[in-house]
Amino acid sequence: MDLRGREVLVVGTKRSGLGAVQLLLEQGARVRAMDAETLAAEEQAKFDRLGVPVVSQKEENLASPDLIVLSPAVPFELPMFGAARRRGIRVIGELELASRFLRGPIIGITGSNGKTTTTALTGHLLRECKIPVQIGGNIGVAVTSLVETSRPDHWNLLEVSSFQLESIEQFRPRIAACLNVTPDHLDRHHDFAGYAAVKMRMFENQQESDSTVMNYDDETCRELYGPRIKACQYWFSSSRRVPAGMWLERDRVLYDGREFMTRSQIRLRGMHNIENVMAAALMAHLAGADLESIACAVETFPGVEHRIEFVRELDGVQYFNDSKATNVDATLKAIDAFDGNLWLILGGKDKGASYEPLVEPLRRKARAALLIGAEPPYPYAAAPLLKKAFDGRVPFADCGTLDTALKYAREHATRGDVVLLSPACASFDQFRSYENRGECFKQLVKELL
Ligand code: ADP
Repeated sequence: MDLRGREVLVVGTKRSGLGAVQLLLEQGARVRAMDAETLAAEEQAKFDRLGVPVVSQKEENLASPDLIVLSPAVPFELPMFGAARRRGIRVIGELELASRFLRGPIIGITGSNGKTTTTALTGHLLRECKIPVQIGGNIGVAVTSLVETSRPDHWNLLEVSSFQLESIEQFRPRIAACLNVTPDHLDRHHDFAGYAAVKMRMFENQQESDSTVMNYDDETCRELYGPRIKACQYWFSSSRRVPAGMWLERDRVLYDGREFMTRSQIRLRGMHNIENVMAAALMAHLAGADLESIACAVETFPGVEHRIEFVRELDGVQYFNDSKATNVDATLKAIDAFDGNLWLILGGKDKGASYEPLVEPLRRKARAALLIGAEPPYPYAAAPLLKKAFDGRVPFADCGTLDTALKYAREHATRGDVVLLSPACASFDQFRSYENRGECFKQLVKELL
């Protein structure tokens, strides 16, 4: 892709937009940036320093560039970009742009859940096995920012969201993984079929010499993707033997029938994490690592912050931070990862899903639910809905804040109990982000006397 002297418009001015602007400038393009929001002074200053004008996101500001590059957060289907395409203007995403310039093979990881954990784990396995790798994408590093440091014999390991796949053309991972496809982001992809089709684009440019790693227990992967993929297929399953790959049999993980490791060697909690381990191990093996070294490296993976993260043990009570659980499904996964004796801290900004699925697991495993979050008149308060769902069925205490919930837990929990923050809700009623909520939780836990 020769961009010298070309007019390029970059849409979105956060991490990915800025990364794209920098790459385009290095390639000699004439660049403008566009955003729907006015930039904060320090963000604007970054573009000023690069000499790149930023215009507001309006059709009349589009002009007629040679190329439009979209950040992952900007929908490909927005009418103004559809109209641009009809006028013959090429529109691609930041991932596609970066992949044209990246040296070295790509590993791409997508899925509805588990992307960040599996990407971080695969990176850990490769590093421990002395296979050179750099990590980016949805995990928080713009793919375009990896270009400069990429090397022909180094792997580029990318967490890829469905948003990024909407706008690819030639993006071709040497190894591509899909962990699962469950209804998610239907606001942007309209329906499940549309969402599943976008995720399948991960594989569309792969050739026979490439490989895929997919979840055999996931019907969409098995029935829809499997028959349509050209690349060599490897599978993982937590419930049955697979045609080629890894599966869990009782408490052993097998690779093509031979023991790879035992379940007790895996420190990460929960069945979903065993699936993530199998996917990551297969990818690391395909990238050249030997199984024995991979198994050792799995044992030393510390996990990812805010995902069932162990914080502290105090008087025999363990505290875990699972602030990333911003929906009911994620909280169910966390409950499933413990045997019982739980003090579950939950609540926050409601997202409209039913809390009913929590009732049975909590009846079996929870000492009590400790409710936090804003109360009405805040319009999205989850606490009243949780109380209604739990009423007479799950013991709960109305705590309001994390601080009060932790004091309550400290007073009532006894040796062998587990205090788990896994809120099933968004954080924005009381916190800046799920990360901020997790940080506050950890700080408060560390301060407990
Ligand atoms: P993502 O990056 O796709 O959002 P994360 O690794 O951040 O995924 O994990 C987010 C949540 O998704 C976790 O807290 C857990 O509840 C759930 N999760 C993780 N891995 C899986 C998996 N393999 N299958 C189903 N759910 C998972």
